[in-house]
Amino acid sequence: MIIDISADNHVHTSLCRHATGTMEDYVISAMAKGFKKITFMEHMEEGIDYFERTWLREEDFDYYFAEGERLKEIYGDKVTIALGVEVGFNPHAYDMLLKRLQKRTWDQIGLSYHFCKLPGFDLHLNLLSRKKKNIDLIEGYGTDELLCHYFDMLISAVSIIPADILCHLDAGLRNQPNLQFMPHHYEQIERLLEKVKLAGIMLEVNTSGFPQRHEPFPRFETIFKAIDMNIPLLAGSDAHKPEDIGRFFDKLSEQLNASGDSPCDHPVL
Ligand SMILES: [Zn+2]
Ligand SMILES: [Zn+2]
Repeated sequence: MIIDISADNHVHTSLCRHATGTMEDYVISAMAKGFKKITFMEHMEEGIDYFERTWLREEDFDYYFAEGERLKEIYGDKVTIALGVEVGFNPHAYDMLLKRLQKRTWDQIGLSYHFCKLPGFDLHLNLLSRKKKNIDLIEGYGTDELLCHYFDMLISAVSIIPADILCHLDAGLRNQPNLQFMPHHYEQIERLLEKVKLAGIMLEVNTSGFPQRHEPFPRFETIFKAIDMNIPLLAGSDAHKPEDIGRFFDKLSEQLNASGDSPCDHPVL
């Protein structure tokens, strides 16, 4: 088996203010769908100027841990509940991120990169947003350059943030209508995989890519490279609604686990 689909290792809740459902709703949904484990990966961001808050503050994380412990007591014998964090890298505030990470015991630290500040702008830009305002700004600035920036930031971040897993590797600019991956982006992806291997961390296979491009984040080609490099893979749905737990895991298993030991022989996906 190449990937274990009995655990959903990446879910959010309404605590981040852009997802729906309480932590308990997700636990109940995970049990109803027969999952053995669910890992909450709430958003942590630092030093981001944005028109709305889409991440947790420290007091929200206090609640998160208290509620997580309460749920473990109630449901822990039926489903394993893990309390993780999805850290958004910020090259101008990583010292604070490191401090905040050190303050608590996380079951899983995921690394991602969502926000960048363009020269001349007061507010950050969300590179993964589906809001038209963000999409237009990205389009106006240039998707090629911003995608390069997205990968560069992750390449730096892997050596700085003590992560267990790199989240949704090629999801940057995922909502741009005219996104083109160029050869130099693929070179960056290879460099990033080398950094992931060197850091000894896992690669997330994030099924939120399926509705958009019939492939996970990262795409299968990259996943097969990671398999060749012996980088461990972990499945996550990135659910922002309780009913999305484990979405497309069956498809993922069909396409990865059915490919056996020799991914290169797998039919074109
Ligand atoms: Zn989110
Ligand atoms: Zn994310």
